[in-house]
Amino acid sequence: AYGVAADPEEVQVDPPIGDEEEGTEKHEFQAETGRLMDIIVHSLYSNREIFIRELISNAADASDKLRMVKLSDEGSLEDDLDIRIAWNDEEKTISVTDRGIGMTKDDLVTNLGTIARSGTSSFLEKFKDAKDESSLIGQFGVGFYSSFLVGNRVTVTSKHEDDSQYAWSSAADGVFTIEETEKADEAERGTTVTLHLRDDALEFLDFNRLKELIRKYSAYIDFPIYLEEHKS
Ligand code: ADP
Ligand code: MG
Repeated sequence: AYGVAADPEEVQVDPPIGDEEEGTEKHEFQAETGRLMDIIVHSLYSNREIFIRELISNAADASDKLRMVKLSDEGSLEDDLDIRIAWNDEEKTISVTDRGIGMTKDDLVTNLGTIARSGTSSFLEKFKDAKDESSLIGQFGVGFYSSFLVGNRVTVTSKHEDDSQYAWSSAADGVFTIEETEKADEAERGTTVTLHLRDDALEFLDFNRLKELIRKYSAYIDFPIYLEEHKS
């Protein structure tokens, strides 16, 4: 069911809590989302490499959505879609960039913080009785929040055609911030997820390790994936 956007009137976006520095809004995660994040961060340590699978699959979903929209609006196929994974061992970051549909400011708030995915409740339900947590992870996509398995701060910069560019950021401490970033080019579009790695996850700052993981987890991905050289 691609391209079925929720009616914006129906989506209740929680008002930001307090105003922080100028231009930066602070929001609280929805309670269920917060619980999911806690479980992910505390229970899935031995499976943490799956973050790459989840980020690649989101990048591919977003690229697919853009393709569908362009096809139905303009009858054209976008052929410049790809997924770029980069790391920086000075900054200790890994980033995944797509040129897909992107997220508006409201999308960032609702999709990454406010409204639980339909799978969240059933995941939490099953998790309660699970003996072997790791096998559960194989069955469920735990999604975007698996970023926090390796990242102690995650920043998502996104640009949707209908909006300016915004950055969403969280350290998984119950809150996230949203701020407008520098004005992006109209033509600019897509999303970059940047993981600021925890000290115990620096093993992922390695070309061969990343290459192997990308191979392992991108079998059915329909877009070229590039692993960019580190920048330090
Ligand atoms: P799922 O992919 O199962 O929907 P995720 O937790 O992986 O759940 O992602 C939550 C939502 O965040 C997605 O449904 C999508 O709306 C949005 N999202 C995540 N990553 C991206 C991205 N790279 N581009 C656009 N939207 C994204
Ligand atoms: Mg996903």
